[in-house]
Amino acid sequence: MPPIQFIREDSAYHSFCGLTCVGWLYQKIQDSFFLILGTHTCAHLLQNVLGVMVFARPRFGVALIEEADLSKQQPDLQHLIEEIQRDHHPSVIFLLSSCTPEVMKVEFDGLANNLSTPELPVLFVPASGLDYTFSQAEDSVLQALIPFCPEAPADDRRVVFLGSVNDTIADDFALEAAKLDIPVGGFLPASRFTEMPAIGPGTILAPLQPYLAKVANRLTRERGAKVLSSLFPFGPDGTRAFWEDLAAMFDRKIDLSEREAQSWERIAEHTQLLRDKRVFFTADNLMELPLARFLKNAGCEIVECSSPYINRKFHAREIAALDGVPLYEQPNFNRQLGKIAELQPDLVVSTMATTNPLIGHGVVAKWSTEFSFMPIHGWAGVATLAGMFTKSIKRHAQLDPLDDPVWSAGLMPAVR
Ligand code: SF4
Repeated sequence: MPPIQFIREDSAYHSFCGLTCVGWLYQKIQDSFFLILGTHTCAHLLQNVLGVMVFARPRFGVALIEEADLSKQQPDLQHLIEEIQRDHHPSVIFLLSSCTPEVMKVEFDGLANNLSTPELPVLFVPASGLDYTFSQAEDSVLQALIPFCPEAPADDRRVVFLGSVNDTIADDFALEAAKLDIPVGGFLPASRFTEMPAIGPGTILAPLQPYLAKVANRLTRERGAKVLSSLFPFGPDGTRAFWEDLAAMFDRKIDLSEREAQSWERIAEHTQLLRDKRVFFTADNLMELPLARFLKNAGCEIVECSSPYINRKFHAREIAALDGVPLYEQPNFNRQLGKIAELQPDLVVSTMATTNPLIGHGVVAKWSTEFSFMPIHGWAGVATLAGMFTKSIKRHAQLDPLDDPVWSAGLMPAVR
């Protein structure tokens, strides 16, 4: 096999803060509470992004801290934990770090240990905006859950799906596995903290999300589980490969070519619009490789696919499927702006911070953040996935043309 090639630019990139993983995980793990040790900035972020009203009693909260609090040995959170226990009755509390306490070197592991009781574990999750893209924070939450997954015996050969998906998509995967006679051990995370799946040397881990390399690696090392190496189940092409490769790990040879063809057929209206479009991914949530591969197979030309982090092993199949596409890790955004101006792609998939300025300069751009929140997995998610790309293109076609198109006005370097 030829060496896998991508260019690493080691640049800072504009990704969303890891705390936002709370948005989907508190809903997924229904008996959990997420407590963030943070500042007013963190509280504003969560209130604005998650848009939850206080009277809705969401199962997450921010313990507001000042620098003076952090000069003490450890912030006193005991009264807050008792209040959360009284008001919400969670089975687990995830204690999330944020930038300020991390910079001040708060010893979170010890803090969480001191607050934990056998009845109510408090688990530390590193999730600040300093180190992680927002999607990778899910990886940290799943790693915190490992000790609560029972040990499965070696002869327990079942698949555990790795990654948080909504209940409809989870049901779809469980149903599909039953149809293909693949025994299911559960999902990590499960909907309840008390029902995390058993994992052992016989477990096959099937990653549903491309940002879970670390937890997959730890489960291989610590439990002897095997990780499915395939495409991620996005689009007809990825979903077919995912199920065929998973079945092969259970010594079953299946051919889903017809199913894949039918699935493409069902989104023909979208692929007609996507065909020959030139698409640019600037890097945001680590979903870029599978999304670009889906678009490539849908007939697009991928002029650049960049991602904050590329794992040679975990992403190997996706990288191979993108053969010929310029791949970058931790790209330089200024270089990308120049390239966008020069190549004038038909669609740019970019972060929340950069998409609107790009649109303001006449570029057809799409928030990549949205892909993390949408049910785009498996056969059931194909139409939603394709529609997310075409919606931006259609919407732009309905807009009045700008008086000063970016390409001629040379404004791109002003976009930051
Ligand atoms: Fe901002 Fe850091 Fe708080 Fe995230 S953790 S909201 S990046 S201050």
